[in-house]
Amino acid sequence: MNKPLTRLSPPAEPREFGFFLDGRAVPAGERSLIERRSPAHDVPVTRIPHCTQDDLDAAVAAARRAFDDRRWSGLSGAARAGVLLKAGALIRERAEEIAYFETLENGKPIAQARGEVAGCADMFEYASGLARSLHGDSFNNLGDGMFGIVTREPVGVVGLITPWNFPFLILCERVPYILASGCTIVAKPSEVTSASTLLLAGILTEAGLPDGCMNVVTGPGSSIGQGMIEHMDIDMLSFTGSTGVGRRCVEAAARSNFKKLGLELGGKNPQIVFADADLEDAADGVAFGIAFNTGQCCVSGSRLIVERSVADRFAAMVQAKLERVRIGDPLDESTQVGAITTEAQNATILGYLRKGQEEGARLLCGGTIPDLGAGRFIGPAIFTDVTRDMSIVRDEIFGPVLTILPFDTLDEAVEIANDTIYGLAASVWSQDIDKALTVTRRVRAGRFWVNTTLAGGPELPLGGFKQSGWGREAGMYGVEEYTQVKSVHVEIGKRRHWGA
Ligand code: NAD
Repeated sequence: MNKPLTRLSPPAEPREFGFFLDGRAVPAGERSLIERRSPAHDVPVTRIPHCTQDDLDAAVAAARRAFDDRRWSGLSGAARAGVLLKAGALIRERAEEIAYFETLENGKPIAQARGEVAGCADMFEYASGLARSLHGDSFNNLGDGMFGIVTREPVGVVGLITPWNFPFLILCERVPYILASGCTIVAKPSEVTSASTLLLAGILTEAGLPDGCMNVVTGPGSSIGQGMIEHMDIDMLSFTGSTGVGRRCVEAAARSNFKKLGLELGGKNPQIVFADADLEDAADGVAFGIAFNTGQCCVSGSRLIVERSVADRFAAMVQAKLERVRIGDPLDESTQVGAITTEAQNATILGYLRKGQEEGARLLCGGTIPDLGAGRFIGPAIFTDVTRDMSIVRDEIFGPVLTILPFDTLDEAVEIANDTIYGLAASVWSQDIDKALTVTRRVRAGRFWVNTTLAGGPELPLGGFKQSGWGREAGMYGVEEYTQVKSVHVEIGKRRHWGA
């Protein structure tokens, strides 16, 4: 199914998926079903099982067996690399099917979904090399009688909880790296966007991943997710989602087995634009950074901080860009901005659009609700005349809402940029490289873009400072996150006896 159909439309019938246990899909059977309606077309598109605690326990047990008997961690890096490479090839072969379900469940434009799926295949291909490169260290400076070896060992069974905004991309920024380390996985996708995770599990089995190394349980965060974060037999949890649930992960880890945590949480990311920037490029980047994925993006550039001398002109330039954005049916290849993924998120964004005006900010443009016959859509909005204490400036809205604050000096720009509980990402636009690099050093964020935004790839790590999370995903840093280090002291020659 890799040939793009000329005119895509939603399916006549929803596709039913099983959850994934020990190498095979398990149909829902007696379990209740969770039906997903396309946020853009308002028709049912998928059904998944509402897994039980017993299902979760079975998935963790399968992952435990697969880890403990070393069927995966005991392989050479080269053998693991072979499976990851094959998985990358199969993702490319099935790209159209994955992108189609990603768009149906999430509401993102099909062209964007296709790009993300291609990026995901790339993640697998890159991580395959890391499976072969991961190694420890040795110390021959301990004197002639002692040799030291440091090994990197996989942490064990990894629980992986992912959100609905980039269901496949976020999954693939983690899974190949976790598998490269030798760990086994129990994944729980968001209950509204589970299809692509279930497709990946099937692909991994087809690629030769041993049974039990990738399991997927489906269902709500409040039951299945909570069960995972409290589980005594999950050694590490990689959670991507809201800061609120991230806090619960920390509490649950403390209450249960002190599982190792990787947390990728919220963001309220600054876009700092200096007057000496290429303002055409910057306006395009700022518009893209807030409208991409309807702003439902942890790294979306939602706080524009712009040098006062160009602030009004630059706001008008961004406005002009945003007013020309093509909002529409995400199955249409020319659509740039699709639907708002969930009803709750739609209500949150509309709430902030109201609140911003009540707090005294001026809605320069957007916030409109285009009538496309069905579905939830919001035109990208800009607020000016904002102050730093307003909720639209402080809170992560997770929608296409940009606020603009002017600055006079570099110090002030940095100070405003750092005035947030988050530290996920930041962009700076200037043609003065000294200025741009000074800003990258002083703003506290895990990812930085200079004269671009939202660039990424498999090589560079992702992750946040401050309340945006702990740890890093992707790149060799991402593989190492899923390992722990063991020290081995080896005595050479005859021991000097302690006892008489
Ligand atoms: P969310 O925290 O509500 O849900 C994320 C996942 O956690 C889902 O699978 C959900 O089912 C599960 N979950 C919910 N309650 C749970 C609980 N009590 N225990 C365990 N799991 C639970 O977030 P969301 O609404 O799906 O996504 C939006 C949020 O995610 C935003 O804050 C956004 O910034 C953040 N996010 C961060 C990144 C990143 O890389 N930093 C990426 C994407 C999204």
